[in-house]
Amino acid sequence: MHSDNSYDIAIIGGGISSCVFASTHIKNGFDGKIAIIENGRKLGGRSSTRNSFNNIGWELNHGSPNFNICNKTNNHLLQSFIQELLDSKIIESDTSDVIDLKENHLFETRINSDFLCCSNYIPRSSMSELSQKIISKENLNDQVKYFFETLIVKLNYDNNRWILTSKNGNKFKTKFLICSSNLILHKRSLDILKVNQIPLRKAIPENNDKKIDKIINLLTKQDYVQRLTFLIYTKINYCYKDNYKNKFRYFILSKLLEEKFKFERIIFQKQSNNNLGIVIHTKNNEFIEEFFHFQNKDKFKEKILINFNQLFDKSNFINKLNDYQDLSIMIWRASQPSGLAIPEVLQVCENYNIAFCGDWFDFEGFGRIEGAILSALKLSCKINSIS
Ligand SMILES: Cc1cc2nc3c(=O)[nH]c(=O)nc-3n(C[C@H](O)[C@H](O)[C@H](O)COP(=O)(O)OP(=O)(O)OC[C@H]3O[C@@H](n4cnc5c(N)ncnc54)[C@H](O)[C@@H]3O)c2cc1C
Repeated sequence: MHSDNSYDIAIIGGGISSCVFASTHIKNGFDGKIAIIENGRKLGGRSSTRNSFNNIGWELNHGSPNFNICNKTNNHLLQSFIQELLDSKIIESDTSDVIDLKENHLFETRINSDFLCCSNYIPRSSMSELSQKIISKENLNDQVKYFFETLIVKLNYDNNRWILTSKNGNKFKTKFLICSSNLILHKRSLDILKVNQIPLRKAIPENNDKKIDKIINLLTKQDYVQRLTFLIYTKINYCYKDNYKNKFRYFILSKLLEEKFKFERIIFQKQSNNNLGIVIHTKNNEFIEEFFHFQNKDKFKEKILINFNQLFDKSNFINKLNDYQDLSIMIWRASQPSGLAIPEVLQVCENYNIAFCGDWFDFEGFGRIEGAILSALKLSCKINSIS
């Protein structure tokens, strides 16, 4: 740790955009000290893996299970970054089955989902390790320091320095601040951080900087898709009906089926001990409301099982699920930004040495990992050109 917790760059958040930025910036020649300050216990953010204390040895990707790259604009930064990850064997092409589930239980292998179109990739390890490996490949001189379980709730800008204060009172000083999440600029911070003013607004009051005013203003028009993911740790003998061998298998529900069964997609995740994990995603608001109001969560879990079994009733691939070892539920109050995407020109505010990255910017892949990566790659170039 730096003696007085001072850094050249501090990044709030340790999701994939933060890790891509730190790694790329070092690769682009930056030789200063970087602090990554993350509220969670590890890197990855919404692209991470659940290691459960109750289910040792299981690894379930509970946010984004994989990622897809379309790169319709042929962005060479993105293209070469993905190629590098492939060459260094950090990721590989995802050749898993993707099955669209249609009404009257027809199963089609035609990909019709924003998440699974174009080229799909999976990390060779887990989604959380993907973020870690992206940094490790460039952090050869130990320039990056990590602070986990550290939630930044307050910002101050004084004498051309940012001072960040965490919920537990730790302070960080930095010349340059990067926010890889917009929590600290968005109205949802009032509830989540339990503060009476949006932290960035408090640090830079209105009419001091046009870009900051604009970004805070535009963010009032950006909302979030809420999701739940149900993580099912199946019993040891549970397996497919057929002899499918790949690690993952994706089932995507059509709009009508989603309406009926309340599930958006189901991802089967084979574990290293050969057990079959199942992660079910839902973004159905009624179902989510019902979950919050259900006093007896075990009864809600029964509903999940009933829907699952009805959905796969006539399937040639999937066996009935009579029981499970464990079922846990992950609540993603802000799984993906929706509505207005923030224009790229607002990514860097030169007057206040602050910049932003993440999937909430208007890049190809808005709301997806592709957009998060692209925003970080572009940010490193922009900062290099102003310093
Ligand atoms: C259930 C689910 C399914 C998804 N499926 C897909 C998919 O199939 N394909 C796809 O491409 N994308 C998918 N996504 C979206 C994808 O996960 C995101 O686009 C991507 O992970 C965003 O990365 P990021 O770095 O921009 O943000 P994040 O991953 O959100 O990283 C920001 C980090 O900042 C931290 N943070 C925020 N505020 C503070 C603070 N004040 N102090 C300290 N830390 C803070 C957060 O804890 C978080 O770890 C999915 C997301 C979810 C939740």
